[in-house]
Order: sequence, then structure tokens, then C-alpha cells
Amino acid sequence: MTMHLIVAEKNISARRIAQLLAGGQKVVEKKDAGVSTYSFGDTTTVGLRGHVVEVDFEPGYENWRSEQYTPRSLIDARTIKVPTEKRIVALLQKLARHADRVTIATDFDTEGELIGKEAFELVRAVNRNVKIDRARFSAITPQEIKTAFANTTDLDFALASAGEARQSIDLMWGASLTRFISLAARRGGNNILSVGRVQSPTLSMIVDREKEIEKFVPEKYWQLGLVTEKAGEQIEARHTNGRFKDQTSAGLARDRTKEPLVVTEVREGTKQDRSPSPFDTTTYIVAAARLGFSAANAMRIAEDLYMNGYISYPRTDNTVYPASMDLNGLLATLKNSPFKKDVEWTIAHRRPEPTRGKKSSTDHPPIHPTGVATKEGIGDDAFRVYELVLRRFLATLAPDALWQTLKVNFDAGGEAYTTTGGYLIEPGWHAVYPFSEAKETILPVFVTGEKLPIRKVNLDEKETMPPARYTQSKLIQRMEELGLGTKSTRHEVIAKLVSRKYVEGNPLRPTLVGRVVTEALEHNADAITKPDMTQTIESHMQQIKEGKRTRDDVIKESRSMLHAAFDQLEANEQVIGDDIRDRTAEELNLGRCPACGGTLAIKHMRGSTQFIGCSRYPECTFNIGLPVTQWGWAVRTDDICEKHHLHFVRLVRKGARPWDIGCPLCHHISSNAESLTEIPSMNETLLEKARSRHIYTVAEISRRTPENIAQVLGLAPDAAQILKYEAEGVLEKLRRRSECRKFMRNHLIPRKGRSYSKIMAALKESGVTDLASLARAELTTLQKAGVSENEAHDLLAQARVTHNGHVLKEIGIPAVSLKKYFTAGITSPDEFVSTTPENLSKMTGMSTGTINRHVALVSVHLHRPVPVKIPRARIAKGRKELLSIKGLTGAMAEKFAGAGIIDGDSLLAADAQQLSTTTGIDAEKIRNYQSLLQKKRENAVIRI
Ligand SMILES: [Zn+2]
Ligand SMILES: [Zn+2]
Repeated sequence: MTMHLIVAEKNISARRIAQLLAGGQKVVEKKDAGVSTYSFGDTTTVGLRGHVVEVDFEPGYENWRSEQYTPRSLIDARTIKVPTEKRIVALLQKLARHADRVTIATDFDTEGELIGKEAFELVRAVNRNVKIDRARFSAITPQEIKTAFANTTDLDFALASAGEARQSIDLMWGASLTRFISLAARRGGNNILSVGRVQSPTLSMIVDREKEIEKFVPEKYWQLGLVTEKAGEQIEARHTNGRFKDQTSAGLARDRTKEPLVVTEVREGTKQDRSPSPFDTTTYIVAAARLGFSAANAMRIAEDLYMNGYISYPRTDNTVYPASMDLNGLLATLKNSPFKKDVEWTIAHRRPEPTRGKKSSTDHPPIHPTGVATKEGIGDDAFRVYELVLRRFLATLAPDALWQTLKVNFDAGGEAYTTTGGYLIEPGWHAVYPFSEAKETILPVFVTGEKLPIRKVNLDEKETMPPARYTQSKLIQRMEELGLGTKSTRHEVIAKLVSRKYVEGNPLRPTLVGRVVTEALEHNADAITKPDMTQTIESHMQQIKEGKRTRDDVIKESRSMLHAAFDQLEANEQVIGDDIRDRTAEELNLGRCPACGGTLAIKHMRGSTQFIGCSRYPECTFNIGLPVTQWGWAVRTDDICEKHHLHFVRLVRKGARPWDIGCPLCHHISSNAESLTEIPSMNETLLEKARSRHIYTVAEISRRTPENIAQVLGLAPDAAQILKYEAEGVLEKLRRRSECRKFMRNHLIPRKGRSYSKIMAALKESGVTDLASLARAELTTLQKAGVSENEAHDLLAQARVTHNGHVLKEIGIPAVSLKKYFTAGITSPDEFVSTTPENLSKMTGMSTGTINRHVALVSVHLHRPVPVKIPRARIAKGRKELLSIKGLTGAMAEKFAGAGIIDGDSLLAADAQQLSTTTGIDAEKIRNYQSLLQKKRENAVIRI
């Protein structure tokens, strides 16, 4: 049996290639450890996930702070290849063992060749003799794929070597410099400062532009224009002088501008508007940006379209269609697309030769459509990109457009004015490509010598503008001009700068960290931030591809460049570190402390605590609490509070929307306003005064001494004392309220649409604000607040146990005893005093002595008389008296004792009916005992 194994760059292309090669045969998909293979006849395809191995340093270099393996030592460190996609690697090797032919069908460029070489090595490791060939194609379409597989060649090892050299150099640069800078600035973990071969010069360009903008001093200039009228139409004309540098001469020109406005010249002409050239990666990204796609997004979508056979390979520098390209066949195919009418128009008006750009290379054709897609099939965004690529292709085959142009010159009192107009006579390519605006200005007919009115003369004062910040697509264009990065990596470099918080926004603007790191490098090792070194390396790559230099030779040269940079860096390590640290501390400063004028800054403590504190701590204790970091890491934003002049604060959390706190002081004031007004003697005037003295919380008042309060708020000593006392009360109330909220959280299962604060607010209406009032609450009160009956029942029972436990503990009953009482079912102070010590003793197994002590404590708490401790002898005597009553048994005496009836006197004093309910002894019987005892006593008296 023979087996032909085809290795594609991704799973999706493996599937598509199998379908295209199978012709009519059925393709069987099989999964092995989650990795799919596609088989037909004796052929099997498998997809990689781009790189399945990664270059890393040999073990030993993991520890950043190692004395032996310094950042510099990474330059010469040996590297190894480590599998990153273990299951794919395992499956590839399993299949390769039995294959008698392996075809590498990865993407056709440097990166693809390197990925192919990695697959080649994995295959060779398990099968030394299998024939390995390479299929190259620029589009995953039936024709391209069939041709590619019928004409396979060998892997291009020179091209792969260039890719490998780049990989090694990037690792060496990135790792050594990132470690050096991060260690110098004492940053670790999530805060490391990354440096990269392409990344740093790119960032430097953004920083430089920002500095230009900051340095820019706008200059005033004046522009003169007039409005005339012809055939009921208003026409604007501008002074031929353009920008006037000084106001006086502009004013004089304006004053001389007088009617009549005489037409001095009418010049008509035509202008050719050439059809655009085919898309390469950069021009495609620029065009997609106009449709609102970021560079990274535009590339992601284009790659998807490529793998599904809708467009050709999107990473290309070529802007000239190769002669072999079947343009007629393609147009015929596209007639089946949703753009049939435009395709037919193009066929009917086709230019003799398609347009061509400046760059021609042989690896890939310019980006063009290769198949038919529909909006329903691929989704809105992908379809917009598909339409862009398709229309661009049509535009390159469409004729040039032709404009009719008109220029009219005027004279007004010796001052020269002019106006221009233009309109399309031949729309040409504009008919199929609406993405490039064609602005028409149609002017009426003018005749030389004609006199016109002047309706208005405008003298506008303007200012020169600073250069614009880079948009992503502008930056990509600039990177291309400077030879920074490649068509495949430029958009990724920008995405990295954003994710590392070096730049933000679009247009791009450097963050403080981005700027500080760039400047530290510029001042101390400018080679790293200049594009020259990177350009040199790019040209070396080209030399490797052409076989003029070897990979090792180029890496060696790069090593010595980096060593030279380290000579400078290491000499200035201290300065660089201090500079970065000092300047980035700025990031956390919010502004001046309202209490003392020091600096308020966000402080991140160990663990998850964060708050805003003053630089003059401990002299100044002003601080503002912040939620713990689980809610988000506090950072400052560029917004500043107009009232407090403090930076706004935002909590950022990965994968969640940021939580904007706004001005921290405004937030602090408003979140404490309610509790402050709960202080009874707090009124508007006092509140204003407190705030003007930077007292914003109840705690702040209760912490101060009455003397201090009196002085700061201008109160009489008595009033200050009262205010402090009241503040303490409110604080206690707040504490209890938060305890109650915590209790709710612990005992009510969270449910969608039910917020604890809503329940708390509803309960507050019914006077339930803490655990004590909750324990006393009615079932219906809770139900009204939105708690179901069952839950309310449990909640109340739990609240009572918790609350009474607190109370009994506070009264002084030790935890061990409390547990025994609770087990016996005695859970509240009331239950305590309605049970006799004897019974309590029996129920809990504790001595009556201990119990009596506890009962006394509870009674005091309930403001009830403490039951007198009854001597044992008296109990015995009383019991004897009770038992002497005819029919009263020992068991009944026990029950009576439980109800506090311990002798004849107490029995006679008791209400029979009530005693019956507590003891369960028939009331009639009790009355009978009472009368028997009465008689017995009367008899005894008579006997005396
Ligand atoms: Zn302060
Ligand atoms: Zn504020």
C-alpha cells in the first residue's frame, strides 16, 4: 500500500486542498487527539497551526536575575527548537512513518518556507528515506492547486534559512534587550518593558512625531476669498497670493478688492485620471482602513478569504499581474458573483492591458479575487473586504477616467482671483470602484471680459497645523518605505505596541511608558531605535535568500551589532534605570493633595489592596479608598476634573469593560455624602465647611479629637463633642449595615436580576437595616423586598440564630456553653429566662451553678429581676410539700419545677390555666391540687 501525505499550513487549507485534489472522490475526515486528517484514495492531508515548533534558549536561561546568565549572555546563548503543538507534531510523525511521499504545501513565502522546513525536519526525524517535495501556489483554487501538485519542486532551503536567521535574531534582540531594560528599571511580572528589533524603531517614529507636534509653534496666516454670482449660482474664488504672511498686506489687498469683478481668462482642458494599480499588502491595508478596518483586522479577514479560496494570498509586495494569469477566465468566473453587472461592464469597456504598479516580484501575484463569495456565505465584514478586492481587480482592468477641467481667472481692482472646476466626462474605473472619491465641481460658463458682482469678500485668519499623528495604515506605509519589518509582520508589530501599552488610540499616540523607554534607549544606545540596523538585517535576509550569504554568517554579524549596543547600555545601566523609574512614577500621580498640597498618587500594595494616598504621608493622612484589584487595576486617564484638577481614575481588567471612576475626589465625596447626612447635627452649612476643610467621611470626623473638630469646623466644644459622638454612632450603624449586607450575600443565593443592594433598600423602607432588626422582622417584610417565602423562612431562622448568638456572646456567655444551649434548642435571651435553671441544666448537662450565672447575665441584659438563687434545701422542702398533695406525682412535680413552681406557695400563686399551657397538665387537675393544698394548710392553721 502506498500513502501520499500532504502537509498544509492550517487545518482549513488542508481540508480545502483535499477537496480540490479529490475531484469527485469522497473525502473522509478523521480525528486523532483532536487533530483532523482528510483522506481520499491513497492521499491524506493534515494541517499544521503555522509554526508547530518554537525557538528558545537552551535550559538554564530562565532565571532573569541569574548572575551567570546576564541579559547580555543571551546574545550568544545556544537555541533549541521546542514543539509548541505537541499533538500535531505527534500525529505528523505518526503519519510520516508510513508515508512514501510527503508534499509540503504551506504558504508560499519566507515564513511558509520556514514552517515547511520545520515539517520537513519532523518528517525526516522518523523517516529517513521518504521522498519530500514542495507544492507552491498563490491561491487555493482548483486550477492553482492542480497545477502546483503536478509541478512540485524541492523545498527552498535558502529561503527557509533567511526565515530562520530572522527568527534567531529577533529572539536574541528581543530577549536580551527586554531583560536588560526591565531589570534596570526594576520591573518584573506583568510590568516588563519589552524591546524589539522592529518594534523599537517603529515606536520611536511614533514618539518622534509626537515630539514634533509638541514642539510645533503654529503660525498665523491670512487667506483672502470672494463670492460672486452667475446665473443665480454662488461661486467662490480665492486670491492668487494664497497665504498672506502678514495681516496688513492681506487687509490692503482686501480693501483694494472692488467691483466689477472682471473675467480675465478662461482655460479649459481635460485631465486623465489613471486607473489604480493592483493591490499589494500595504495598499490593500490602506484601502481597508478607509472602510474602517484596523490593519490587524484587515489581514485576519484577508487570510480567511484566502484559505477559503475567495482571494489570492494576501501577503505580497507585487503590484504587477504575472503574464501567466488567466484574466479572461477569472472575469468569466466572477460573472457568477453578486457583482455580475460590474463585471460585465468591465468586460465591455476593458482596457487593452491591466494597470501595473512599481513593484514586480515573482513569488505571488497582486491580491485579487479567485472565487465567488456571497454575503450570506461569509458574513458582512468578510464580504466588504471581498467586494473591495474584487472591485479593485475590476478597476485595474477598467479604462482611465477623463475629467473636463476649467480654470477661471478674475481681476478686482487690480487684485487677482481664481477658481477651478472639473467634472467627469468619462467615469472610467470610477464606475466600478466607488471607494475612491471623485469630487466634481461644475462651474457655469464664463466669457473673457465679462463683468460680475462681488457678493462678499472674506479675509480668514488661520493657523498652520502641526503634522498629523500616524494612523495605522499611514504607519505601515512609512514602515515599508523605511524597510522596517515585512509585509507579513508590520501589522503585528503595531498590534504588539498597542497590547504592550506603548501606544494608544488611532491615530496612534505614545503612552508615557512608551515615550520614556524610547527616550532612554535613544539617549544611551540609539542604534536600537534607529531603522538603519533593522534595514541592514533586512538586506542580509535578501542575501541569504539569494544564496550570497549564509544564515550563520548573518547571525554572527547581528551578534556583534548587539554587543556594541550592550557596551553602551551596560555603561549607563544606572542612569537608564533611574530615568525610567522616575519618569514612569509620573503615570500614577493624580495631582495635588487637597489637604496639604502634596502629590496624590495611586498606590498598589501587596495583595489586592489599592488606594489613593498622599506623598506627604505620614504627616498627611488624606487618602481615598479604591475597590480591590479583582475589580480592576487602577490607572489614571488623561481626563482631568475641572473642579479638583485631579486625573480621572479607571479600573482595568482583562476581558472586561473598564470601570470608569472618574475624578476620584468627586467619587469619594458623592459616595460618602449619604452617610455624612445621617449624622443628626450635620447640616448643609456644616457639611460645606467640613468639605472645605477636606473632611469627606464619617470616619474622618470620628477619628479626630473634639478639640480638633471644634477648631477645624469652628464649633463650640459641646457641639464638637456631640458631633464626634454622633459620628461614632453613624459609624457603628454603617458597620452593622454592612454586616447585614454581608449576611445577605452569604445566605441568599445570587440570582440573575436580583441585587442585594435592591433588597437592602427595600428592607430599609420597612425599618430593617441591620441583623438585629432582620432577626425581628416578619416573613412578609422579606417577601415584600423580593425574597421568596421559602428563602425568607430560612433567612429569618438563620438571622435569628446569628443575631442571638452575637447578643448572647456579647452578654458574656462563653462560646462553648453557647453551643450547648443552641444544640438544646435555646437560641434567644427570651427562651433563656422562660426556662428554669433546673431544666436548662438537664437539657444541656451543665451544672446549675453555671446556668444560674448565665441566667443572671441574660436577665440583666433584658432588664428583668435576676432570679434569686434557691438553696438546695429549700428546693427539697418544696418538692416534699408538693408531693404531699394527693394525686400529684413525681413526674408532675418535675413539670411544675420546669415552670418555676417549686413549692406550695408558688403553686397557690399560679394561674391554673396558664400553668396548664406551660406544663401540659390539665387545668382542672391543677385547680384540684390548689384547693387540696389550700385545705391542707387551713387544717394545719386550725391545728395550731
Ligand atoms: Zn496630603
Ligand atoms: Zn473632582
